[in-house]
Amino acid sequence: MDTKQDILDLTPDELREALAAMGEKSFRAKQIMEWIYKKHERDFAAMTNLAAGLREKLEAGFCVGTGSVETSSRSDDGRTVKCLFRLADGESVEAVSMYIESRHTVCLSSQVGCSMGCTFCATGGMGIVRDLTVGEMLLQFIELSRREGPISRVVFMGMGEPLMNLENVLGAVDALTDGARFAMGCRRITISTCGVIEGIRQLIRRKVPVRLAISLNSPFQKGREALMPICKDNQLKDLIDICDEYTEQTSRRVTLEYVLLKGVNSSPRHAEATARIARGLDAKVNVIEYNPVDGSTFASPTSTETRIFRETLESLNVFATVRYRRGRDIDAGCGQLATKHGKA
Ligand code: SF4
Repeated sequence: MDTKQDILDLTPDELREALAAMGEKSFRAKQIMEWIYKKHERDFAAMTNLAAGLREKLEAGFCVGTGSVETSSRSDDGRTVKCLFRLADGESVEAVSMYIESRHTVCLSSQVGCSMGCTFCATGGMGIVRDLTVGEMLLQFIELSRREGPISRVVFMGMGEPLMNLENVLGAVDALTDGARFAMGCRRITISTCGVIEGIRQLIRRKVPVRLAISLNSPFQKGREALMPICKDNQLKDLIDICDEYTEQTSRRVTLEYVLLKGVNSSPRHAEATARIARGLDAKVNVIEYNPVDGSTFASPTSTETRIFRETLESLNVFATVRYRRGRDIDAGCGQLATKHGKA
């Protein structure tokens, strides 16, 4: 296991302090950050405006990201790429790059596995292994950008429940939005949650300026519990209340994500009740066609089911989009990310 300090885990102040402890001037921190965060360089030897002695010291004690891309697969249409990252302790996570028209969106993982146990999700079937560090999340961003080009949007919607690893996810958001580091606009970042109410409360209290997406998946308490066990402790009524508060306090509307499962949550009754919730929250609904995973009893909706669900929402004055099965051929679709737990 790598015992070097991951620079991606350090704030700019911490990097300056580390350099000062090595007898280096603070302007070196700016140079190093430009290489890492603007040029996405991970190799100290390539940082040619640093003195050779400093490069050697950095090489001896630090690294830029503790892990690497072990495998990657590209969808048939070439627009979706899934990368498997091998981490320093041998664990692995996946992250996905998607081009939607000219927009490059990356879907980052926040945990190895997930404790939420959503029944339709491959990651949920793994259980939780551990949280990712700030650096491990930023590593996914850097590698996907190096391979696939400049990134326009980030969604924390990969493996893991971001609000169960809140401090590190917020550390990554800080780095992504910091002008001296990745300098992304806050509104280009979305945190997606299956409905962890305490986590949403923290986002409100700490005024985290990113977008929030809620996996609704059923407009009924019992239906949500059947799909997402966490909902037993996070009642739908309380979730709606906290989303209302979020919109009021932040002036930002939430997005409701809805994984459409054939014959389970796709009836007109579900669409009508979803529309009532969306209208109450002034939220838009993003309908996601279920991507099958091995051993699952759920099935993808037919195109007619999807169309009727969307049309019902729209007829009730709710703005709805449909996310089709992007990257399904490489298991990079929503709910399909999972790695075999076990060290390399
Ligand atoms: S859907 Fe999200 S929250 Fe639910 S088990 Fe999968 S990764 Fe975890």
